[in-house]
Amino acid sequence: MALTGIDIFKLLPKTNCQECGVPTCMAFAMKLAAGQAELDACPYVSDEARQQLEEASAPPIRPVVIGSGDTALKVGGENVIFRHEKTFVNKPGIGVLLDDGMDGSVLDDKLKKFTGIKYERVGLELFADIVALRESSGDANAFLGLIDKVKKAGVSNMVLMSEKTDILSEGVKAAKELKPLIYAATNGNCKDLGQLALDNECPLAVKGSSLDEVAAMTKELTDMKLKDIVIDTGATTLRQSFEDHIGIRRAALTDKFRPLGFPTIVFPCTMTDDPLQETLFASTFIPKYGGIIILSELEGHNLFPLAVQRMNIYTDPQRPMATTEGIYEINSPDTDSPIVITSNFALTYFIVSGEVESSRVPTWLLIKDTEGLSVLTAWAAGKFVADAIAPFVKKCGIEDSVSHRKIIIPGAAATISGELDEELPDWEVQIGPREAAHLTPFLKNWSA
Ligand code: SF4
Repeated sequence: MALTGIDIFKLLPKTNCQECGVPTCMAFAMKLAAGQAELDACPYVSDEARQQLEEASAPPIRPVVIGSGDTALKVGGENVIFRHEKTFVNKPGIGVLLDDGMDGSVLDDKLKKFTGIKYERVGLELFADIVALRESSGDANAFLGLIDKVKKAGVSNMVLMSEKTDILSEGVKAAKELKPLIYAATNGNCKDLGQLALDNECPLAVKGSSLDEVAAMTKELTDMKLKDIVIDTGATTLRQSFEDHIGIRRAALTDKFRPLGFPTIVFPCTMTDDPLQETLFASTFIPKYGGIIILSELEGHNLFPLAVQRMNIYTDPQRPMATTEGIYEINSPDTDSPIVITSNFALTYFIVSGEVESSRVPTWLLIKDTEGLSVLTAWAAGKFVADAIAPFVKKCGIEDSVSHRKIIIPGAAATISGELDEELPDWEVQIGPREAAHLTPFLKNWSA
């Protein structure tokens, strides 16, 4: 936030009415400056003050939404140069390029992969987000046919690409309800495409041969009152594009240079013909500021590593990754199957569930909410202790699923076994191995 607490205080009503939940307007201003409060918490801010505060607190990279509804892709909105300073906010969209000159079966195959390849990891679903539709045929009907095919496949996030303004206009009109990203305004057609974007309330990409040219175009478009802009720097090599992305982020955040304060779109698919190299290029732009990253193909072997990298980079480092509390059935357990309990730290869950799964022993895995802390840390913090575990065991419903009353706790938490015995008098508390890697022999030798 550009304003200090004192600057914000000057714009507040100064009545100290406490309706915002803090004792004074000064205290609220300080919280606002620290990003610990929302302006909406004060019902008495004047419209003029609100506008000033919102402008001053707007993120230096404007957030832009492409698509509509729950699955719309939001990019930009970033506030930091390095992820460890705070967190990155909106993960980049990963997409695939479809061309209206492609053979129908090729298009069908690419669309099938786009909609079909999904992974679940740490309770999150990983998938590609957007399809870039390129007109290369010179035939408006072919382009409209491609848009129709993609819409019928249920895809709602699109980039519509054409160098021909008339064909692009027809495409935008055919998909305007989906708010596609229009690609791309250049020096020659900036005003026309700006108007097209305004008329259809769609975001617009600008493409320049240099950052100066891009900045001049975004200035022209914002003067036209178009706000939702995405930048293509026009670079065709990894090195130039990488340098451009760094330059844009620094200009927007460090120099507060608004004409470059927009998310980007980048095409690793045009930088190389080698699929492996293309994936490596794409991986460069996940931590280094790509907004939308377009690939030539979506396959498990490129989407999965990129989506996992993206998940890791765009996870808030101040919030531990956690799995949902509950009962997880692994290998189809029955009433005589063992019950293993552990914390909901995502890594713990994945290691333990992976070991149990590979043991092939039908098992009930109880995941206790420890706010994402690992077993030992949660124990030290009082979140994986007897009087927290016992109520969960009683309430979660596991007692209705088994005929025995034996529960296996992690070896690392053996110290709680005595207290847990007292809290769960009907249960036998068993101490499991310290390392998840030793679960397989432990479970194979276990009997009810
Ligand atoms: S609600 Fe507004 S006016 Fe009241 S104390 Fe908070 S900041 Fe001040």
